[in-house]
Amino acid sequence: MKKPKIAVIGSSSMDLVVTSKRRPGAGETVLGESFETVPGGKGANQAVAAARLGADVYMIGRVGEDAYGVDILSNFKSNGVHTDYVEPVTHEKSGTAHIILAEGDNSIVVVKGANDHVTPEYVKDKRDFIKTCDLVMIQQEVPEVTVTETARLCQELGVPLLLNPAPAREIPDRVVEQVSYLTPNEHEAALLFQGEELAKALKKYPNKLFITEGAAGVRYFDGKEEVLVPSYPVKPIDTTGAGDTFNAAFGTAIAEGMDLKDSLRFANRAASLSVTGFGAQGGMPTRKEVEGGLL
Ligand code: ADP
Repeated sequence: MKKPKIAVIGSSSMDLVVTSKRRPGAGETVLGESFETVPGGKGANQAVAAARLGADVYMIGRVGEDAYGVDILSNFKSNGVHTDYVEPVTHEKSGTAHIILAEGDNSIVVVKGANDHVTPEYVKDKRDFIKTCDLVMIQQEVPEVTVTETARLCQELGVPLLLNPAPAREIPDRVVEQVSYLTPNEHEAALLFQGEELAKALKKYPNKLFITEGAAGVRYFDGKEEVLVPSYPVKPIDTTGAGDTFNAAFGTAIAEGMDLKDSLRFANRAASLSVTGFGAQGGMPTRKEVEGGLL
């Protein structure tokens, strides 16, 4: 099978994770137990997952002029993601997420930093390259106007676009019309189609709208009826990044030319395996692991 060429336009960041028995109140200092830095960002997660699944992946993103930027680039390289289109932003910090794990819950502060510089101009500058891709993938951790302009550009170039509308925000109908695949989770779908029954929304966008439903799998309308493609039973350890793995696997399968139903099965299989490992990228399976499970 041919190796599909995928451009992932999106965020990359470093997650700075501390664990603490207690969450500090305003003005308070507490001693924590551990500190870890973990590469993340939805764009980067999806790029890494797609590369592990055998796609030829080019990240279109930005890092800051700091040590985290160096680490983010080296993480891409060690996962086989091409970094030709990840340019540092001068006098800017890399995107970071500051995560406190305490009292059985997390509190997170996200600083977008260099990710705000993934502008429409930055994307359009890569137009000649994008034209050669089998698929483009984008999420919503870059400016809204970048998503809008990417949808327009991909339609003009005739390159299919997979929009993973996470984190949730409203999207104009025009953009929904322009994308080839839209993959909200249930929470994002509820915001996208406010006041509308999801069954009605699914019917409006046959073979385009795919709503992921966690352990249950993924739902869509195939032109005749609503279909639920079930996920695979696993013992979940950490569901962070399940959606990212799902999207990467779905995109990889589609770009390879797998039919829609098989692509969804492949995506469920990859995503279900991802929840059996720690961290977003930590649990992302290789092609071999996914195919082993599908036999
Ligand atoms: P997100 O991670 O974006 O919130 P979901 O929770 O809908 O998205 O999960 C995305 C996909 O990951 C699901 O469609 C399914 O394939 C897989 N998945 C998530 N949680 C589980 C689980 N507990 N068991 C099996 N598969 C899961």
